[in-house]
Amino acid sequence: MQASAVEIQKVNKHFGPFHALKDVDLSIPPGRVTCLIGPSGSGKSTLLRCINFLEPYDSGEIRIDGRLMGYDAPGRKMGGRALREMRRSIGMVFQQFNLWPHMTARENVAEGLIRVRGMSRADAATRAAAALAKVGLADKMDNHPSRLSGGQQQRVAIARAIAMEPRLMLFDEPTSALDPELVGEVLSVMKTLASEGMTMVVVTHEMGFAAHVADRVAFMERGELVAADTPAAILHQPQDPRIQSFLRTYH
Ligand code: ADP
Ligand code: MG
Repeated sequence: MQASAVEIQKVNKHFGPFHALKDVDLSIPPGRVTCLIGPSGSGKSTLLRCINFLEPYDSGEIRIDGRLMGYDAPGRKMGGRALREMRRSIGMVFQQFNLWPHMTARENVAEGLIRVRGMSRADAATRAAAALAKVGLADKMDNHPSRLSGGQQQRVAIARAIAMEPRLMLFDEPTSALDPELVGEVLSVMKTLASEGMTMVVVTHEMGFAAHVADRVAFMERGELVAADTPAAILHQPQDPRIQSFLRTYH
């Protein structure tokens, strides 16, 4: 068996006195889709943000491809350069698309390649065009975000992330801000990515996506990772009453 892409062990996170993550353990297998579900406020976003160290965790370990994230040693945060290097392998897509309004789709995708990767403008434009084609937006490359639907804007955000060639993609409720009729096109792009073997962690309320695309589903409540198992075990035959009660709100 291959080692985990992300190994989370006994991770704790406090916001002041509030205990947001409680001894969270989770193994994220490479080349698979892990969906993270649970009630609002259960710590899903916090856990996702700890993985790329947008939030520093207080204790425990998060290892990305075996390497400890965010710390050189227990209690000693790594330097900015080392952190940036580790983050390079991780792409993130948020509920809000966060595109630059004054740039075209293609410029939005190219910007990080130029600034972070130091690519030439010409190379970045070529790579951006390929990434946009991949998400089905070859014909919208020159549009500004205001001339794109929400679903198209989110696909630009996904293209921006994949253009950086990450080894791991984190999605935090990528379809929650979309009108219902636009959800499908974004999920479909994510399915394609998954079928190509991208390691993905997806916080979602789309139970259909979790059931059909996820290899593993993890359920969180009140900062605890209650269970992680196959979609069938979590979504169809949940043993834990907390999961049963959560799922009832979806029926
Ligand atoms: P979820 O994504 O599952 O809805 P979050 O991870 O966003 O939950 O939040 C988990 C809990 O931590 C919530 O009670 C939230 O209010 C709290 N929290 C999250 N971020 C902060 C913060 N920066 N400061 C204080 N409390 C926070
Ligand atoms: Mg959240």
